[in-house]
Amino acid sequence: MRVIVRGALALALTTSLLAPAAPANAKPKPYCELHKCIALTFDDGPWPYTPALLDTLKKHKAKATFFVLGRKVESRADMMKRMVDEGHEIGNHTWDHPDLTKLTDEEILSEISSTQQVIQDVAGITPTFMRPPNGATNTRVGSLMKSFGLPQILWTGSTLDWQARNTKVIRDRTLKYAKRNAVILLHDIVPETVTAMSTVVDTLTKKGYKLVTVSTLLGDRELKPGEAWPKPEKKK
Ligand SMILES: [Zn+2]
Repeated sequence: MRVIVRGALALALTTSLLAPAAPANAKPKPYCELHKCIALTFDDGPWPYTPALLDTLKKHKAKATFFVLGRKVESRADMMKRMVDEGHEIGNHTWDHPDLTKLTDEEILSEISSTQQVIQDVAGITPTFMRPPNGATNTRVGSLMKSFGLPQILWTGSTLDWQARNTKVIRDRTLKYAKRNAVILLHDIVPETVTAMSTVVDTLTKKGYKLVTVSTLLGDRELKPGEAWPKPEKKK
């Protein structure tokens, strides 16, 4: 006997016979295991230059992470909402950018909780990690961050853009640090950085890099509350 099946049914039968069945609980591979990813991170905003940076990122479908200061958030609700709407990530960078290692426990808790609150109020999201100003941290700061459930995000490359204040230098340093799984420290309060990002994002995209948020870069990897990651590169 010969059964003739046509069209969609035939295709469905053929596909189901040929394709090995995926296990029901198969988890897709994290995005950054499949792609060359880089996390660009922008600290100390939001600031009047931030929208121009958001325009550049949007043009290239690039995502970034913004470590914002609580005291700058309230008056710039539009920028904060835009970050969230356009798929960027927001981290807590304290209220006023102090050296946390020099504050009392109470002062540290106030810096972090007031910033969590204002971000929640303005942007409707609660950051799931923080970055200590200037990367200054110690065991005590770490254990206080643990009490907030917040890992501390550092970087693999610091451009020192706030010192350089030169578009070409900032561009070259960013491209130098741009390796797979890099976390690059930049500042959206530096206008030369915002200008440099136009070329940087274009160049990295053409090289096949995917510019992603810190969470996407982490993928399956779960950081412990209070843990500091990644370890900064040793100074040469
Ligand atoms: Zn900072």
